[in-house]
Amino acid sequence: MLTQCMGVPHISTGDMLRDRIRQDGEVGTAVGATMQSGALVSDDLVNLMVQERLSQPDAARGFVLDGYPRTIGQAEHLSKWLEGRGIREVVIHLAVDYNVIIARLTGRRQCPRCGTLYNIASQPPRVDNLCDLDGEPLVVRDDDREEVIRERLEAYENQTRPVLDFFSASGCRVVKVDASDHPPEAVFEKIRQAIETDDCS
Ligand code: AMP
Repeated sequence: MLTQCMGVPHISTGDMLRDRIRQDGEVGTAVGATMQSGALVSDDLVNLMVQERLSQPDAARGFVLDGYPRTIGQAEHLSKWLEGRGIREVVIHLAVDYNVIIARLTGRRQCPRCGTLYNIASQPPRVDNLCDLDGEPLVVRDDDREEVIRERLEAYENQTRPVLDFFSASGCRVVKVDASDHPPEAVFEKIRQAIETDDCS
């Protein structure tokens, strides 16, 4: 919703890494093993990947970064890169209760062909376990198993939560949005208001 209304690309490091795994090769195998364990992939690899993507022409007017930066090292790298180009960032902190996160992720299903996301509780497909758009059987992401989700939450606490303080301390706008029990449209509206961009009117 956000990228549509702003006309800028959605850049998800998780999606980019999953593409890498599909392309296989040695790096893909190592990345896949790290992701399946719930740990974070190395800063060097992710920083380089993002830097290359942000240099593409479609990102010249702005972009929405999703899942990045996730460590202080990544935040420092990104800040330097943005500063060098005179780009001002807004940080949106989507605050969600851990029990809600676990319920959302364990219920998440995805179409392996077109990428459409479902949730067996809140947004099920019309026909049980088949994609509405192309009829493909839906899959569970390898890292959406409960024991891996707990590892991912631990990585968040230890490595990603400090990133919020980093941005606050550097004078950047950090907007906290409660995303626990509101529909996506309401969360989007709160973000839109926080960004206050004319593009979205
Ligand atoms: P996501 O799709 O954003 O939930 O990310 C899934 C997994 O990809 C994470 O648990 C990490 O293993 C890896 N990953 C995604 N983004 C990053 C990042 N910025 N830094 C390190 N690892 C990442």
